[in-house]
Amino acid sequence: MNERIAILGAGESGTGAAILAKAKGYDVFVSDQSSIKDKYKAELISQDIPYEEGKHSEEKILNASLVIKSPGIPDKAEIIKKVRAKNIPVIDEIEFAFRFLNGKIIAITGTNGKTTTTLLTYHLMKSAGFSVTLAGNVGESLARKVANGNHDWYVIEISSFQLDGTNTFRPNVGVLLNITPDHLDRYDYQMQNYINSKFRLIHNMKSNNDLICFVDDTIIAEELKKKVIAPRVFQVSLNSNSTAPVHFTGKAMSFSLGTESFEITQSDTTLKGPHNIINTMSAVSAVYIAGVSVATIREGLKTFKNAPHRLESVAMINAVEFVNDSKATNIDSVVYGLGSYSGPLIWIAGGVDKGNDYTLIEAQVREKVRVLICLGKDNEKLRNAFRGVVPEIYETQSITELAQLALKVSKSGDVVLLSPACASFDLFKNYEDRGDQFREAVLELKRETEKATR
Ligand code: ADP
Repeated sequence: MNERIAILGAGESGTGAAILAKAKGYDVFVSDQSSIKDKYKAELISQDIPYEEGKHSEEKILNASLVIKSPGIPDKAEIIKKVRAKNIPVIDEIEFAFRFLNGKIIAITGTNGKTTTTLLTYHLMKSAGFSVTLAGNVGESLARKVANGNHDWYVIEISSFQLDGTNTFRPNVGVLLNITPDHLDRYDYQMQNYINSKFRLIHNMKSNNDLICFVDDTIIAEELKKKVIAPRVFQVSLNSNSTAPVHFTGKAMSFSLGTESFEITQSDTTLKGPHNIINTMSAVSAVYIAGVSVATIREGLKTFKNAPHRLESVAMINAVEFVNDSKATNIDSVVYGLGSYSGPLIWIAGGVDKGNDYTLIEAQVREKVRVLICLGKDNEKLRNAFRGVVPEIYETQSITELAQLALKVSKSGDVVLLSPACASFDLFKNYEDRGDQFREAVLELKRETEKATR
């Protein structure tokens, strides 16, 4: 009998894990408590992998010798408690894939900026002609990528939930962008648990591995002091007085890596805002360490196109810029969103509040925001937080009305910024849906405005 693996959750990671496990000769069973998307079901069927949906049949799961769990399933889930009670190891798909991976890894984590930094890192490696693939939390799962063949390099976006399920995973280059409160419901509301989870990134790293980390983040800086850190550390800072080998001088990003020193200005990149200086410094350091030349890095930075919903400039209408930052679902990302513009701003925020402390952005909002439009079902907390701080506050639940209202209250030179600080589930399917609907409404408004002035 082949060793049996039970896979819990049949999303991208679970299906990828199932495909890899099957290819490696395991007896695989996939179980999803909800319904499985048609495209994944079709894959499981075509690969002859048994599965169930809408339930977890214990008799088919608790007889496995290994369980691979979707990062979305918390440890508190009944089925996980039962699996653990039987001492069956529970790992993440990334851990499983790592066991079969031949190649080197750049792994990127942080509370914010993972996707941008991962995509940029991948783009720079790809433009340099490296044999490289992208995996993890962005795009396809690592297991699927490993099942499909080998690459010299794997650029992986890895979340804290995924890191929780690793035990031998070891990146050659790790990038730690920031650690700010998020997802605390999964960490018993203990910040240290979340910090420990992020630091699992370096758990197995050795002295010949490299860690790039943003040390203006006080949590990261403190943790580096407390822990014995095996890999070589390349500190990144936005502080012009910093002695970090990678820092922002106030005018340019300055890199002293290996024996080389060079500078890059943000205007030579396609990304805006201080947060993207951090992301760019991190990605550039990672790919430099991986062997990409400075000249090739400079070229690559000019052609990078970020994923949508991240400070995405949607349109200019009557000299007002409409920006979609729907992915900004927590306070820290809004700090950087607002910080990317000198104002005045028409700020659109609201949705499902994950426990925001709005006092953290009060000063910035007071300085830059002229109008706040609350887009949510329950806007009371937001309204109360900014009453007297922002001169004008409006509310709406309709995205079409929102675009029209934003244009009506704006003046030439203003920026309308959708940077919600909240999750989207009250009015939308997810942040992508919110951003897509916003983009569509803005483009429609642009067409109407142009028609009217023709
Ligand atoms: P993630 O994948 O970690 O969610 P994204 O690159 O998708 O990160 O960006 C998510 C949000 O966080 C965006 O609104 C973006 O403006 C903001 N952001 C991006 N990079 C950073 C950073 N280094 N620090 C803080 N906020 C950031």
